[in-house]
Amino acid sequence: MTVTADETSQPAIAAGAQHTPCLVIDVDVARAQYARIADAFAGAHIHYAVKANPELALLEALVAAGSQFDVAGRAEIDLCLAAGASPGDLSYGHPIKKAEDIAYAYARGVRLFAFDSEGELDKIVNHAPGSSVMCRVLASSQGARWPLSRKFGCVPEMAVDLMKVAALRGLDPAGIAFHVGSQQLYPERWEPSIATAAAIFTELETSGISLRILNAGGGFPVSYRTPAAPITSYAAAIRSAVARHFGRHTPSLMIEPGRYVAAPAGVLHTQVVLVARKSYDDEPRWVYLDVGRFGGLAETEDEAIQYELSTTRDGPAGPVILAGPTCDSVDILYQHAPYDLPLDLAAGEVIRILGTGAYTATYSSVGFNGLPPLRTVISP
Ligand SMILES: *Cc1c(COP(=O)(O)O)cnc(C)c1O
Repeated sequence: MTVTADETSQPAIAAGAQHTPCLVIDVDVARAQYARIADAFAGAHIHYAVKANPELALLEALVAAGSQFDVAGRAEIDLCLAAGASPGDLSYGHPIKKAEDIAYAYARGVRLFAFDSEGELDKIVNHAPGSSVMCRVLASSQGARWPLSRKFGCVPEMAVDLMKVAALRGLDPAGIAFHVGSQQLYPERWEPSIATAAAIFTELETSGISLRILNAGGGFPVSYRTPAAPITSYAAAIRSAVARHFGRHTPSLMIEPGRYVAAPAGVLHTQVVLVARKSYDDEPRWVYLDVGRFGGLAETEDEAIQYELSTTRDGPAGPVILAGPTCDSVDILYQHAPYDLPLDLAAGEVIRILGTGAYTATYSSVGFNGLPPLRTVISP
């Protein structure tokens, strides 16, 4: 077989293509997602996890919509305050912080902190005296497309002990936090951790410590190529698990959605750099894009997150292996997951990668192979 005309022809660069790669954020979509989750979890405190996408315009829209925020460091605190949030609406949810960052948060007015170890509790006692604290417990990430594994959380017995220490050392023992893993597809996966939290509440009650916050974390999934169930099914499962395990002593529910709010708001515009075959009889074509694993698509590792692609061509399609533009061979997006693209796809064409508003722009490397970090624009 010889190389076809289509693969050698050079179509005119599509309008705007010279500006790729570029992440276009539609703030209205994020606002609608926030409204959906706020509605499903009416009465809960909703803290948007800023790390999913810290774009100022998006944060401003969420402030206006009444969102609170989960922050993980100084820059995120500053961004939220610049967007108009008040410090009382911020929760410093990352359980591993530098002492000086805790002091900085405290100086800026943050009074709610998460921890999961004695060493971290010490730092909070010393640098954020009198603050409210949530102890994070280990949770299984089974069923999550982007797991959080064993890096965060302690066992329940330790949480009980640490909350007693927190009270003795002048902190306000406020609640229990957990996270069931990001893009968690199964609504029932929240229940085991809710049961664990309820047992900790009960145990501490016997020591005269009344917790009040149940922080069920993030993890709420969006539809990529695999559709996710509606957010109402996660809310219903969580509510019924809370009723089952907490009975009449209903805690104040807090959630920290990141992906759910930001992902559907982003469309990544990328350009085909090359369409190639490695031999005359291989069926799949290699399609090299101008964005890849290092340019923001880190969640394609192990092909965990499989984004939906959209092209302007609608002719017959065939299988492709999708790769990024860098000289690193891990920069392959999808080689096992079946992806089809139009047979007449050629270099210079723009492909839109959908659902890329979360965990993309901030994951992008700085200057690898001389490529600039992924640019974000806010759609008008
Ligand atoms: C990242 C993170 C979140 C957001 O998780 P999503 O899966 O994006 O909803 C929530 N809480 C904490 C503590 C996090 O670190």
